[in-house]
Amino acid sequence: MEKQIDLYTADDTVRLAIYGTVPERQHELNVLWEKYAPCVEQTLDKCGFNIQAGSFNSLLFDHKSMYMNWLFGFGLMKGLTGFEDLDMPDEINQESINNIKTTTTYFEISEIFDHIMLLKESTDIIEFDENKVPYPKGNKPEDMEGAAAFDLLCMNAAFLMLHEFRHIQLSNMNHNFSAIEEEKECDNYAKNFIIEKISEYCKKSGYGYQQVLVKRMLAIGFCFCFMIFITPQKFWKKSKSHPSIKDRIGSILKDIEIGSNDNFWFYINRILIILICYFDIKVENIKGNQSKLFYSLIEKFE
Ligand SMILES: [Zn+2]
Repeated sequence: MEKQIDLYTADDTVRLAIYGTVPERQHELNVLWEKYAPCVEQTLDKCGFNIQAGSFNSLLFDHKSMYMNWLFGFGLMKGLTGFEDLDMPDEINQESINNIKTTTTYFEISEIFDHIMLLKESTDIIEFDENKVPYPKGNKPEDMEGAAAFDLLCMNAAFLMLHEFRHIQLSNMNHNFSAIEEEKECDNYAKNFIIEKISEYCKKSGYGYQQVLVKRMLAIGFCFCFMIFITPQKFWKKSKSHPSIKDRIGSILKDIEIGSNDNFWFYINRILIILICYFDIKVENIKGNQSKLFYSLIEKFE
């Protein structure tokens, strides 16, 4: 990513992440970008996680936050490819959670997660062991894990940036949204931008609609998992300015047609379970098909 910063401006970096995620809307994005003229700036690294819309149409982010997002993507990949022995059951209880905590895969993930937490408190980048997670160098890595983490990083960044871009658009319009409604509007805008024209993409690329929908929705779902991860636990609940993270995920998934036993649920449930392990959340016996499990698991994050 350091290299990328040299080659591209901050504005290019954001647009490339969005183009890469929704190639079918490149022209439309250019028109909107021209109209609202967001002032994209990479700021100096500072404490916390920093991607936000500021005053005067500014869209600000720092390198450290992108690096945190990158590491999280690797953690997720380990979570999805590891635990081969964990045949995601239709029943989860405290014992199965405790068993996961003793696995090598979980140990490796929590090591990455601990490092992201350390970065969150830091004002500078502290590199994670490069033997375990390669430092991002700008181009998509060739190995499968790296390539998948890179795609996830782009899609996560695209969702977050489109959300902030909607805040910028709204700041230039008359609207009656309350702070909470505005957050939901920005989430929905970002989601719709990413999925609304999938069929156009499929016509050109030959990929199946459902396959692309699930991939993109998973990236959005993972983005909310990242929000859960970086938001202090006491702010998972609804506040004056933000809906609860659980409600945000719920409204994003509303009206999306994903079968109750689709892999989508299987993947996202794995990540929620890893977060449950990481935050030491107690779990009673939870049963049901994968989508039912998801809605029970997500209740734990409020
Ligand atoms: Zn927002």
